[in-house]
Amino acid sequence: MNKFEQLGLNESLLRAINDLGFENPSEVQEKAIPLLLEKDTDIVALAQTGTGKTAAFGFPLIQKINPENRETQALILSPTRELCLQITNEIKLYSKYIKGVNTVAVYGGASITEQAREIKRGAQIIVATPGRMQDMINRGLVNISKIDFCILDEADEMLNMGFYDDIVNILSTSPDDKSTWLFSATMPQEVARIAKEFMRKPLEITVGHKNSGSSTVSHEFYLVNARDRYEALKRLADANPDIFSVIFCRTKRDTQAVAEKLIEDGYNAAALHGDLSQAQRDGVMKSFRGRQIQMLVATDVAARGIDVDNVTHVINYQLPDEIETYNHRSGRTGRAGKLGTSIVIITKSELRKISAIERIIKQKFEEKTIPSGIEICEIQLFHLANKIKDVEVDHEIDSYLPAIYEVMKDLTKEELIKKMVSVEFNRFINYYKKNRDLSAQKAGSERRESFASNDGGSGNGAVRYFVNIGSRDNFDWMSLKDFLRDTLGLGRDDVFKVDVKEGFSFFNTDAEHSEVVLETLNSMHLEGRRLNVEISKNDGRDNNNRRDHNGRSGGGFKRAGGDRSTDRNARSERRGESFGGGRSGARTQSPAGRAPRRSSDSTGSRKPRRS
Ligand code: ADP
Ligand code: MG
Repeated sequence: MNKFEQLGLNESLLRAINDLGFENPSEVQEKAIPLLLEKDTDIVALAQTGTGKTAAFGFPLIQKINPENRETQALILSPTRELCLQITNEIKLYSKYIKGVNTVAVYGGASITEQAREIKRGAQIIVATPGRMQDMINRGLVNISKIDFCILDEADEMLNMGFYDDIVNILSTSPDDKSTWLFSATMPQEVARIAKEFMRKPLEITVGHKNSGSSTVSHEFYLVNARDRYEALKRLADANPDIFSVIFCRTKRDTQAVAEKLIEDGYNAAALHGDLSQAQRDGVMKSFRGRQIQMLVATDVAARGIDVDNVTHVINYQLPDEIETYNHRSGRTGRAGKLGTSIVIITKSELRKISAIERIIKQKFEEKTIPSGIEICEIQLFHLANKIKDVEVDHEIDSYLPAIYEVMKDLTKEELIKKMVSVEFNRFINYYKKNRDLSAQKAGSERRESFASNDGGSGNGAVRYFVNIGSRDNFDWMSLKDFLRDTLGLGRDDVFKVDVKEGFSFFNTDAEHSEVVLETLNSMHLEGRRLNVEISKNDGRDNNNRRDHNGRSGGGFKRAGGDRSTDRNARSERRGESFGGGRSGARTQSPAGRAPRRSSDSTGSRKPRRS
């Protein structure tokens, strides 16, 4: 007998499950489904993202509703429009062999009257975001006074996004004798409060560790001197060319100032805070969703409703006043099963806050050093090479090619590559050549020593490698480190300084292992792709060699005197460009805004520097 059959699911569902290709129930499904089928009970189910919670409530729900009755019998609340549509779609697939089941999605940003009309036609199941649902109830467009089931899906996310009041209001218009099923990845206090106040003796199911933060987010901090905060932020952006990030500041003023500086320095950035009008905020969010903005600088309040998937980094430019807020911030990344990184830029005097946050998120931070100029150049170089390799060719170009071939005809392939890459790369090299290390020195023995594992090794004779796998292949630094150690048969601390980018990564080993590394990895395939490992030029500890032990700020970038006024004039024009440009790479121009200004044409091309 099929495992799903043993859970008590009926024939129509089993057929649909078979079509979906699910072979065995996941743990949360195995625990929740029989309980929910057997009893009319409230339930709190905690399981990580990606563990199949939708089916864990979807299957029993479909089996329990009455398809012959066209009244609304179940309400599923979910945090975002995307999830709302996703769940609706899943429920439709699960119920495809059961006649008469209708599921309607209700979410903001689409016609409310059309949604109301669909419900009127008879929808047993409504899947809704709390905001829009509240709106519909207020306008009398929907009636949930007879529902038997209310499901709070991704409850922690909903509360993170500030939907507490909406949820409470919605629950209060629903009948007391319904069953409430709460599904969540984590159990922060607000979720516990909902469970306590609005549920009756809920059964509790936990898969994995209760209360742990989302394991899809890794946490890092960078210790810098206070005056280097901004420069550190820029380097983090430059070291992550595909960054798509939310940057948190404490006040509206700082938010505006940091965003302005980033724009001035040529990044695709924008500010989001309460002093903007609703229309301005909508405009910013639209550009962010469309990825014309790669660095969204926001206050905590303004960022509350941000439901954008694929955010790669959350950066705490300053830590929040209330440590608890950190959780809300870091929850903007690592969504929908994707990996994300939450970064804290921190000064020595705030260091103790890290342990306090670790206690709250039940996860450890990794201490990292701000990438050196050389590291950034290297990353940019490989990024550029990958970008050239992957670029989609527009065939408009075809007619020009014969003439262009003619121009290039005397260059060998190697020369051509070298020159092509240099076109973009010279600027980075020129800027970073002069730049110093930013990591703040820590006093004597620090508590962070336990985190040295990613930075172990003897220091001398370390070899740094480039490898052509990265976050695109679902690695983060921890999983790549594990993968490399296992594959190479090396010990716990033999692989260090693992730095994962989108399409490639870097790591170090001691020199004695380099032969094994090169031989083993270069003869391997991963999901049909050949691994490529090369020794990279610097050993990844360039920082330490260049550290300025006097603690001077020496060599920091200063804008050339006469540049500033031009910059101001050029700003609004460039801002227009960065909203519409849609370039890849966080910068819209070269580092620090000093190198050549972009031309004002709309193609995003740069003025040639020299002929
Ligand atoms: P969660 O809500 O816990 O984050 P989802 O319900 O969105 O997870 O499910 C994650 C993915 O796993 C979906 O693509 C879903 O179709 C798939 N899935 C769910 N249950 C199973 C199963 N038993 N076997 C295989 N895939 C499953
Ligand atoms: Mg889910």
